[in-house]
Amino acid sequence: MIAHSPTTAISTRSTPPVIHFNRPYAAEKSFEYMRQAIANAHTCGDGPFTKKCHAFLEEQLGVAKALLTTSCTDALEMCALLLGIGPGDEIILPSFTFVSTVNAFVLHGATPVFCDVRADTLNLDESAVERLIGPKTKAIIPVHYAGIGCEMDAIMEIAGRHGVPVVEDNAHGLFGKYKGRYLGTFGALATQSFHETKNFNCGEGGALLINDRTFANRAEIVREKGTNRSRFFRGQVDKYTWVDIGSSYLPSDMLAAYLYAQFETSRQIQKIRKRIWTHYQRSLEAWASGNGVRLPIVPKHCEQAYHMFYLLLPTHRDRQSLISHLCALGITSPFHYLPLHLSDKGKEFGGKAGDCPVTEDVSNRLLRLPFYNDLTDADLDRVVAGVLSFRIK
Ligand SMILES: *Cc1c(COP(=O)(O)O)cnc(C)c1O
Repeated sequence: MIAHSPTTAISTRSTPPVIHFNRPYAAEKSFEYMRQAIANAHTCGDGPFTKKCHAFLEEQLGVAKALLTTSCTDALEMCALLLGIGPGDEIILPSFTFVSTVNAFVLHGATPVFCDVRADTLNLDESAVERLIGPKTKAIIPVHYAGIGCEMDAIMEIAGRHGVPVVEDNAHGLFGKYKGRYLGTFGALATQSFHETKNFNCGEGGALLINDRTFANRAEIVREKGTNRSRFFRGQVDKYTWVDIGSSYLPSDMLAAYLYAQFETSRQIQKIRKRIWTHYQRSLEAWASGNGVRLPIVPKHCEQAYHMFYLLLPTHRDRQSLISHLCALGITSPFHYLPLHLSDKGKEFGGKAGDCPVTEDVSNRLLRLPFYNDLTDADLDRVVAGVLSFRIK
């Protein structure tokens, strides 16, 4: 012990380690299950662990079919293929979202029509959707931002009246609910992400959720390089062949093994995340109202998925100062999303300043706090103390 004390003395004086914004999580059994996947000698897609993941998602959420994919981006691209999106077709989506929500469709020729978001939940503004619908509209893509449900009653009603399919980008929202019903179960199709920054992860991965059964057969084909291999493996055809367009969207069974271990402990994971979120909310409430900072708003009829905790600062300058203030304390606090309609690519589709005022405004003022399953109480306290020591001038 004595021999160690000089080292201890030095380390207590040095700056504390950086608190990262995200740390990829692995459940205890992830390693054992990955070892099993290798021992099974079935490391390609659709092995035993992939099947367990499919069954889990289908049973938990009550969707007609769930298919693991290599990413949420790829699941979105599968939606573009399933909906037969081609050049000139229009899709309606929020400007305030990740690039993949739009790019997966534009890749197949779609023209994006960017919609603004609500100022409270930062979700697709359902009151602005209808006037964007035209004869070429092929999909409406709500994103359940921060795992808090969009106004699905209104969105489904408008979409239904115009006969336009809905694809939910539920990358943030696994196990979140809108009016008691799971996110991802409203649209004809929905997508999940298991990227390392999401609540459940396998590094890179995703899922396609199918609610409209008419897409089920073709989804298997599109996912298997345009072949009917899935039917072949089930003994439904005696050889498999090229039957449609598609690509390779199956993740390795080793990744499914990693993921399945987290599914098995999904309740504990969500409990941990709820605790972190609630701790931020309670500790920062008074500071926020004293400094004109807005915390996330969760409508009464939404059960959120506890994906992220964000702060909306009064001005862009305040946001930048808080980022620097936290950075000096060794705390990483990123921001997002740059409005898609004002991006280089978005401008090619005619996007210009003023098109989506709420998106343009919040994009400048939003900041995210570190949020991951292994965040310790000590780190959580350090982040809270760091924020509390910041005063808006
Ligand atoms: C993370 C994310 C995606 C992309 O997920 P990947 O699995 O990395 O492809 C898509 N949409 C939203 C809203 C996301 O947050």
